[in-house]
Amino acid sequence: MRRKLVVANRKMNGSLPSNAAFLEGVLAGILDYHHADYAVCVPHPYLFQAEAILKGSPVAWGGQNMSRFASGAYTGSVSPRMLTEFGCQYVIIGHSERRQRGHDTDHAIGERFEVATQAGLKPILCIGETLAEYEEGMTDLVTIRQLNAVISEIGVKGLAGGVLSYEPVWAIGTGKAASAEHAQNVLSFLRGHIEMLDAEIAKNIQILYGGSVKAENAAKLFSMSDVDGVLVGAASLNTDEFVAICQAASNACV
Ligand code: PEP
Repeated sequence: MRRKLVVANRKMNGSLPSNAAFLEGVLAGILDYHHADYAVCVPHPYLFQAEAILKGSPVAWGGQNMSRFASGAYTGSVSPRMLTEFGCQYVIIGHSERRQRGHDTDHAIGERFEVATQAGLKPILCIGETLAEYEEGMTDLVTIRQLNAVISEIGVKGLAGGVLSYEPVWAIGTGKAASAEHAQNVLSFLRGHIEMLDAEIAKNIQILYGGSVKAENAAKLFSMSDVDGVLVGAASLNTDEFVAICQAASNACV
């Protein structure tokens, strides 16, 4: 059975004292909720702090992006090895905020996914349609194009090393989460697409939903059979809210 996974995407937020309060608060808050898995993706300068506080705990940590190159003249980038040196297990790949503003192409994201798995990281591949694409009924087309770009780089079996996250751009940071039914429909569609290529990978891959997840909508999302977890942006800036989402994930697994 697939475990539920709750991932915090802290984006470009935090400070040494506020991160410490959050991470220690999460560790204390999840003590009784051990049926799900948890991870926190922090800005790169705070990886050392995440490692210092979370090492040996049930909470994993990760980066929010990485270069597909091992080293070289890539000012402002970090390599997969730099992430693993700080104990990262996860790295977010292809977040819409980077696709749109960082000009990350489908192809580059596919390469990055492969390089991340080779480095021993679990890439969390974000895919999702914009509002205009949603309104034009292009959700399936866009998400499959983004997913296929990765599959064509690494083959369907390569997906086994990562996590998929459906993140409709219109739901990110807007407070307007997709309904649990919409999330289930899209996740089931994506799993069905993978199943046509490899039934075993489809059965085992964790597929998350992300976009305005809060404590109040988490339990309903987790009740959906294809929702294996959530990627949490804004609500991960509030310790109580994030812990409540972790609690909902763990309860859904009992
Ligand atoms: C995200 O950016 O990955 C995200 C899900 O953000 P939010 O929860 O704030 O919509």
